[in-house]
Parts: sequence; C-alpha cells; structure tokens
Amino acid sequence: MFYFLSKNFWGDPWLVAMFLASVLVIIFLRYVFVAYFYNKIFRAITKSQLNIYLTKKKQVIKEIKWSFISSGIFTVYGALCFWAYQQGYTSIYEEVSAYPIWYLCISPLLFLFFYETYYYWLHRWMHRPGIYKIVHHVHHQSIDTTVFTSFSFHPLEASLQFLFFPIAIFFIPMHYTIVLLVLTILTLSAVINHSGMEIFKKSFLLKNIIGFSHHHLHHVEFKTNYGLYLTWWDKWMRTESKTPLE
Ligand SMILES: [Zn+2]
Ligand SMILES: [Zn+2]
Repeated sequence: MFYFLSKNFWGDPWLVAMFLASVLVIIFLRYVFVAYFYNKIFRAITKSQLNIYLTKKKQVIKEIKWSFISSGIFTVYGALCFWAYQQGYTSIYEEVSAYPIWYLCISPLLFLFFYETYYYWLHRWMHRPGIYKIVHHVHHQSIDTTVFTSFSFHPLEASLQFLFFPIAIFFIPMHYTIVLLVLTILTLSAVINHSGMEIFKKSFLLKNIIGFSHHHLHHVEFKTNYGLYLTWWDKWMRTESKTPLE
C-alpha cells in the first residue's frame, strides 16, 4: 500500500490499475457510507417513518448508478492530482511551518469561497436551455432529493464540477490535511443539501450556509438558489428564492 507513496509505481501498468481501482472503491464507498449513515442517523433523531429504500427505490438505484460514474471521474482527477503532487508540481505542502499559522486557518475558507464562486457560475451556465439538456438534466431528475442525489451527475457535469480541484491545487497553497478537510466538508455539504431534512433550522447558519430547504427550492423552482454551500452569490445576484425557508 505504502509503495503508492513512492513515485516509482507509475511505471508499472499493473500497479497503476490497482491504484486506480482502489481509489475508485474508496471514493464510491465513501459516498455510499456517508449517505447511508447520514440518512440513518437523522431519520432516527427526527423519528421519521419515511423509508427512502421503499418509497424511492427506483430513484435511489438510478442515483447510485450515476454516482458510480461520477466516482470514476473523480478517480481520474484524483490520480492526476496525486501524480502532480508526487512530482512536486502542486502547491500542497507537508510542513505546517511552511506558511504562517493564520494562512493555514484561512486556506480552507479561501478554497471553499473560490469553489463556491466557480460552482455558482458553472451552475448558472448549466441552466441555459441547450446546455441543460445535455449536462445538467440528470441531477434534476430527482425533484424530491435523497442523500444519494448528492453525487448523482451526468459525466459531463461531474467532469466540469470536479475540474476545479486539479486547477485549485496548483494555485491555492494548502497543507495536505486541509485538502482532506475541504473534501470532507464538500461531501457532508452535498449530503446535507439533498437529505430531505433541514438541520440548520431558523438560525444564523440558515441565512448564510445552504442546507436542505435552500437547495430543495432549487430542485423545485429550478430558476432560484444556484449556490452550493453559501447563500452569498444568490443574494448578490438576486437569484435567491422568495419562498421562506422552513
Ligand atoms: Zn440546477
Ligand atoms: Zn442538487
């Protein structure tokens, strides 16, 4: 396993294939486990009787199939990023002391804000009629979303969304633990936004951070709430829904 940390394995096609297969399994299982357990825990907390595996069985199966393809695309990007990191081409660093501690603290916020900006404008573009039919319709097939909708994209949409990562790691210096942190935040945020349960309730968070009710309105109203995890761009561009959040 640790042989993958050395640069030499890229010369061996068998090891590269094993590496890609392992990354694919890890990325796909991460999605399935996070979605499954998030759903299980919050259904238990809210004492909800709704069983998505019975009531939305066909939709969930379809979402998991698309998500497997998205996992494959993320695997390719992930492998490219890992290769570039090993060659020393990226701005990812290992020594905490390489940058001031204040930078370490703001670097995830920097990444998340730039990704939010990228996603908001990409999302607006994907809703243009000609583009929508080809790129974005798969994600919108789920109107009443489930935790499994979180990674359910057409391969073109997945390619465009994830393209930000290989670009960002060249330009935004981040400690490798911060890279893992932002990936975890993105995974959780996507599941929260499609989960069918609002966890932020009527709080300061609900006004600034996108939860289920905000993103649900996007799936229902279609022309509002394009943001990913911050409501800011929708507020600034006046695309936020007028429907009150629950
Ligand atoms: Zn959309
Ligand atoms: Zn969605």
